[in-house]
Amino acid sequence: MSRRRMLRMAGAAALALAAQIHAASAAWPEKSVTLVVPFAAGGPTDIIARIVGEHMARTLGQSVVIENVAGAGGTTGITRASQAKPDGYTIMMGHMGTHGAAPALYPNLKYNPAKDFTPIGLAAGTPILIVAKKAFPADDLKGFIAYLKANGDKVSEAHAGVGSVSHTTCTLLQSQLGSKTARVAYRGTGPALNDLVAGQVDFGCDQIVNLVPQIQGGNIKALAIATPERSPALPNVPTTKEAGLPEYQVSAWNAVFAPKDTPKEAVDKLVGALDKALDDEGTRKRLLDLGSVIPDKTGRTPAALQKLVESEVARWMPVLKDAAAAAQGQPTK
Ligand code: ASP
Repeated sequence: MSRRRMLRMAGAAALALAAQIHAASAAWPEKSVTLVVPFAAGGPTDIIARIVGEHMARTLGQSVVIENVAGAGGTTGITRASQAKPDGYTIMMGHMGTHGAAPALYPNLKYNPAKDFTPIGLAAGTPILIVAKKAFPADDLKGFIAYLKANGDKVSEAHAGVGSVSHTTCTLLQSQLGSKTARVAYRGTGPALNDLVAGQVDFGCDQIVNLVPQIQGGNIKALAIATPERSPALPNVPTTKEAGLPEYQVSAWNAVFAPKDTPKEAVDKLVGALDKALDDEGTRKRLLDLGSVIPDKTGRTPAALQKLVESEVARWMPVLKDAAAAAQGQPTK
């Protein structure tokens, strides 16, 4: 072998070794992480994603970029994110609707909440409130129910699309009351709330994080919170039990998922970053001030989230099956 050829080969070997060393030491993440929010900006899923994502970015050492992909009650964004390359750079903020209720309402759903994801962890529990526009002709839940029963055809409900949390929880409410109002679909409860404040729709059921500032500001009426206890964030709002509708008990949640088959290194780092965010005093205060319930250490593991998803799909299937036919074909605003 010529001396020149030997030198060339040695050079190539050195380069290959350097590339190997780089690959081994180039720790994930090397670039920003996209967190898909399957609803419009400004609503509960978006708010929770931004609060938690901001702190996760600090731990990951890369920015977490929120991408709002709204439509079809959150299933459009989750479908797209579930089909993203499973490299940890695309993750999503799902919730009780997208990963619990949707299979009951979308016979052709393109994902299986229990099988097509790598669970990262629960981000927040979110009590549900029944809220009405400021000018609604009733001030408490009993008056609201009486009005709905007598004038249901004149009343409109705002929700975030078939299978969303707002749609699901108000479907439950309307089936318990036997009421049938108009139901208007939005691309998230951020825009739905804007119309409620403006008085263009009459009422809705929504996750607490969206509502606290508007209730405190007197811009909408809070009729009841559907949890056994009042929320420390809204101590003056009665529970459904106190307000005369004890059977209406429902809470929602938001959680971070990655596509199925995301590599362990990325998953471990995402799980750790979420855990750290939920331990951070500043992040906790922001979530608590908006009425979220922060999961404890055992409640925020991937295994706990997987269990939750499975039990939620089983819980909502029978409740929503009958509502499915009636719910299809809603107009979208
Ligand atoms: N809270 C909404 C829902 O009803 C969605 C959103 O976060 O805007 O599912």
